[in-house]
Amino acid sequence: MNRIKLSLLSALGITALFAGNALAEINVAASFSITEDIVHEIGGDRVKVTAVIPRGSNPHSYSLRPQDLMTLEKADIVFLTGLGFDDYLKRWASAPEHQKKIVDISRGIKPIQNENDDHEGEDHENEHEYHAEHEHHHQGTDPHAWQNPLNGAVYAENIRRELCNREPDSCEFFTGNADNYIKSLKNLDSRYQELFARVPDKNRIMITTHDAFNYLADRYRIKILAPRGITDSHEPSAGDIAAIEKLMKENKVHAVFIENLAANAAVEDLSRKNGRVINGMLFTDSLAEEPEGNTYLRMIEHNLRVIHDAMSQ
Ligand SMILES: [Zn+2]
Repeated sequence: MNRIKLSLLSALGITALFAGNALAEINVAASFSITEDIVHEIGGDRVKVTAVIPRGSNPHSYSLRPQDLMTLEKADIVFLTGLGFDDYLKRWASAPEHQKKIVDISRGIKPIQNENDDHEGEDHENEHEYHAEHEHHHQGTDPHAWQNPLNGAVYAENIRRELCNREPDSCEFFTGNADNYIKSLKNLDSRYQELFARVPDKNRIMITTHDAFNYLADRYRIKILAPRGITDSHEPSAGDIAAIEKLMKENKVHAVFIENLAANAAVEDLSRKNGRVINGMLFTDSLAEEPEGNTYLRMIEHNLRVIHDAMSQ
């Protein structure tokens, strides 16, 4: 299909591009791998999309590289994740000539405020580190809205609308793709609404080391216990481990989770030692190379399945 379109275009010559019927390719920069994937689902081969933060990188501590600035400059549209996620390009985004191509895909999402913001005055020892790692959490708004698939559907609709504005000739194509995609996200959501509703309240508790699942927890009525001060970017200290163990025992928690960005061998040990805990891995701030986490839809399905399995055992 691609090859046919290409040879047709070269046969018609470059002037055809301006004749109205040829399909212009939209150049898109996406904040990170999840946004990139959703743009790809909707834009298909009519959009060229590049993620600014590459897969596997930690957005909590990202700084723009020269090649990222190139990506941003070349883009017709820059899709940002919003809700305080995009601090790493705050300076770039503040220039008026850049502002006009920026679109915040979180528009219409009901934000959740970060409860862990109340640690001021405590944990003095770790305060410096904590602030550096979690700067984007300190706006009071939790940016991890993608952990609820219905918010993914909002992203998708915002992206569809902007692509349609930019390229009305392809709007039908974008809308068809978006409809299918949003349907898949909504089906996934209703399936897990039903499944979680059958899990007893006392089992709907989880511990995570990185406070990334508030939107998921809110949607499926899960209680999250997050030991404070533990970040995803360094090994938990002996004190961190003790805090986790205490939480587990006090609350009879079935599920402790380790993230794809974490190097938490110590937490894994703890899980094994306490028997009742699974070693489920959840995807948080990036898509992964593994097939179960290499698209947004698969990543969310994986997270919901692993959490549900842990709570129903
Ligand atoms: Zn995060």
